[in-house]
Amino acid sequence: MNTLYLKSFIRCKRKAWLDFKGDKSYEVWSAHKAIDKVNQFQIFYKLCNGEIYTGLKACENGYEGVIGLKIKGKFFQNIYAEIHPQLLLKTKGVSKWGPYKYLPAVYKLGHKTTKEHLFDLAFNSILLESFQETKIEKGLVISSFGNKPYVEEIYLNKKLRKKVLNVLLSLNECLEGFMPEITQDRKKCTICSWQKFCDKEAKESGYLTDIDGIGSKTASLLKTNGISNTQKLASYSEKELGEKLSQFNDQKFLKASMFVKQAKAYISGKSYYIANKNDNYDLLKKTSSGFYVFDIESNPDEKHDFLYGFLKINNLFAKKEDLIYEPILNLENNKSESYRQIIKILFSNNEWPVLHYGETEKIAIINIARYLNYSFEEIDLLTSRFIDLHTLIRKSLILPLKNYGLKTVSNWLGFKWVQKDVSGSKALYWWIQYKITKNEIFLKKIIQYNKDDCLATLQIAEYLIKNQLKKN
Ligand code: SF4
Repeated sequence: MNTLYLKSFIRCKRKAWLDFKGDKSYEVWSAHKAIDKVNQFQIFYKLCNGEIYTGLKACENGYEGVIGLKIKGKFFQNIYAEIHPQLLLKTKGVSKWGPYKYLPAVYKLGHKTTKEHLFDLAFNSILLESFQETKIEKGLVISSFGNKPYVEEIYLNKKLRKKVLNVLLSLNECLEGFMPEITQDRKKCTICSWQKFCDKEAKESGYLTDIDGIGSKTASLLKTNGISNTQKLASYSEKELGEKLSQFNDQKFLKASMFVKQAKAYISGKSYYIANKNDNYDLLKKTSSGFYVFDIESNPDEKHDFLYGFLKINNLFAKKEDLIYEPILNLENNKSESYRQIIKILFSNNEWPVLHYGETEKIAIINIARYLNYSFEEIDLLTSRFIDLHTLIRKSLILPLKNYGLKTVSNWLGFKWVQKDVSGSKALYWWIQYKITKNEIFLKKIIQYNKDDCLATLQIAEYLIKNQLKKN
């Protein structure tokens, strides 16, 4: 047992088990984990003013910060464990090394201190006390505030230590037992390295949470009504189901119809049209004399959009190689220049609609227009040109997919990204690497990824428009 399993266990019991016993060939690299590690090191480095070293020797030498230490020990009766403290920070006191001791510290992304942080600190302190031969009264949660380290002290009282001990005992039991079930809260799976492995099992077993719009609460409501899997849901009468979904009030029949249709599509692999003739006709009409596809890459934690990509389409039937793609990098010191270029592009064809996938792009443009002191009317006029294909596709079709994200939908339409296994998080990882190394190769990768995102969005637009043309 170790700190990493504890961290996983708090999120999902199955994840801890898979980390311990799972076949690693099914695990995929996680950009989130990698980003977390880089951010963590940077903030620890600042906190220790650069005096940060690895291993036991660093503790003996009394350096300010120590990382990369693994400590084994007995934590309860005959149960042994290993801790991997993220950081040990030097403080006043007496330990076996001299007139100082170390406190355990964990990195926190965002504002909320969770039980994951508290349990990590309490677990570390149990083994650290005997390792240093001293008492540890508190641990530290380190976050970044305005690019500076912010330290929160956590008192490791008896209650917290008792709680973590109980969790560790359940973890121990879990690791010795059979593989736990897939978590009910499938939102947790989106950033998990075992997602592909679990998705396969969920689909084969007909998990209700595989159906778009069904979360853990709705799934358990359906189960109490005898609908235990997607097959049963697909064969259920929409009207009967609607009567059972009173929690959705006047939306209950609409929801029931969507759930049943979505389950049918998911099982059969076929898509279903739902009425939305006008919107798609509108898309066809507005794009007939040219349009832009717009996509941005962002760092949500820093609220920074680092790349804006525009694809210019004069004619829907033009060859892909002939399309003009313009990437605009938003480096920290050239914000005004990036904004100027964006506005220049948007107004070089000021009648053209701007197609995008999801709400982020429109919000970004509103913020830019506000920054440039545009009037209410001007902002309204500009944003009225934006067409969100994600909303449009949801209103028009039920697809045989688990979700309606850009990657899922365009992959289903046969789109292939030039670079393998890419995602927005991976682009962010490359951006962070670029900021550290200044190596242009990372920028090239981000730009290629963004261009492909634009082309994937275009493929969805083509699909909607061509389907509309067939109907006319
Ligand atoms: S993919 Fe989901 S169910 Fe599977 S281990 Fe990860 S969080 Fe748990």
